[in-house]
Amino acid sequence: SESRPLRVLFLSADTGGGHRASAESLAKQFLLQFPGSTYELADLWTDHGILPYRTLVNAYKHLSSHPRQWRLFYWLSNNKLNEIWTNTHSSFFCAKPIRERIKSFEPDVVVSVHPTMNYVPLRQTRKISKELGKHIPFFTVVTDLGSAHITWFEKNPDKLYVASDRLYKCARRWKGTPEENLVLTGLPIRHGFGMEAEKLGDRTTEAGKAYQRDTKESLGIDSSKPMVLVMGGGEGVGSLSEIVDQLYAKLTKQGVDATICVVCGRNEKLLKELATKDWESVLEEDDTKKKGKRGFFKFLKTRKKTNKFIQQAMKRAEETASEPNGKGNVDVVGLGFITNMPEYMVAADILVSKAGPGTIAEAAAVGLPCMLTSFLPGQEAGNVDVVLESGFGDYCEDPPQIGTEVGYWLQDADLMQTMSRAATQVGNPYAADDIVRSIGSQTVAWMNLNEK
Ligand code: UDP
Repeated sequence: SESRPLRVLFLSADTGGGHRASAESLAKQFLLQFPGSTYELADLWTDHGILPYRTLVNAYKHLSSHPRQWRLFYWLSNNKLNEIWTNTHSSFFCAKPIRERIKSFEPDVVVSVHPTMNYVPLRQTRKISKELGKHIPFFTVVTDLGSAHITWFEKNPDKLYVASDRLYKCARRWKGTPEENLVLTGLPIRHGFGMEAEKLGDRTTEAGKAYQRDTKESLGIDSSKPMVLVMGGGEGVGSLSEIVDQLYAKLTKQGVDATICVVCGRNEKLLKELATKDWESVLEEDDTKKKGKRGFFKFLKTRKKTNKFIQQAMKRAEETASEPNGKGNVDVVGLGFITNMPEYMVAADILVSKAGPGTIAEAAAVGLPCMLTSFLPGQEAGNVDVVLESGFGDYCEDPPQIGTEVGYWLQDADLMQTMSRAATQVGNPYAADDIVRSIGSQTVAWMNLNEK
């Protein structure tokens, strides 16, 4: 279709790193496909909301590291009754400044990538359209994977883009969004993933392995041993420190050589801790003590199934794995917030992470098996199901068990190959290209119409 520069207004907020990452991946595509385009990323609630809406980002920071409180919050808010109340209340107090903000940017198109930026902004955009006598299209791109909050979905955005069949059905069921307005793509991930996915190809082939080795070397990582990438989302949450200790201990004890790269995100405390840690003493620690620590609250924990197929393979691995000799050569590398995630995910052999939608979609795009270690109740529960059902990883909360299982995976080449191929089946490294092609062509069509 015709290409012309577009003024794009993204609506997002820094609740976790995922929404911004998605917006940026879409922005990049606008610049590539519609050269000369300009964009802005607006957090409408932080800038123009009254209390409690303007505290969104800090509230998320707190809640995401307190899963039980989060579960309560999610449960209380994820229903029609609360939605109607919040929509009415926030419209009454904040609609006007939000409308003015949107209008002041003079957008050709508005793209929401956040669950709280749909009802009010959509209606205000429609109002602006009426005022100006030209249609400004409004799109929602859902940046969740397996499950999503009800406020993501509106009946009548120009189009609603979702990443999974599950979410497609949610939109139909909850809001009756017509099928012609619903598009099933994938989660928009950064352009770098598309480029890396293309160069990597199938990581289980010789060519793929060679490219992975080169990538390791370019990152300064030992290319003669496997790399385990440990992540906790943008904030570096989840009991990362304990998980890293146990990975180190179990791999060493099993005699598996590996590099453990720990992405601490914005968690600087952890980064410091890793740099000064006495790893010898970690080996001596008794991990049975750790297990009972939170025993009292165990009944409050959300349990998740594990992947049967992988558990069977685990049993086999347990039998065939080399005699544990306690001589694995394991290095731990602490990393801050990294911006070259595609390279790190290509270099990695296994990802250990909480069940963030972006992180899982990125891993899938480069065929990287995943060990999921926690999830935020509510919107991340479905992500775990996506991974387990498609067979590219497992779920485990217990740090010693995580260490043991990852150690066995690394010794089972067949299992690694099966998981990697399953991941590739699910991933779409080019989702952002597809979404922007669709949004862009509709926007251009409206602009041409508006100018007539
Ligand atoms: N991320 C990154 N560098 C880091 C840590 C995280 O680029 O050091 C990115 C990661 O690749 C992913 C996003 O942050 O795109 C995290 O999104 P996800 O949806 O997994 O979790 P959220 O933090 O939004 O809950």
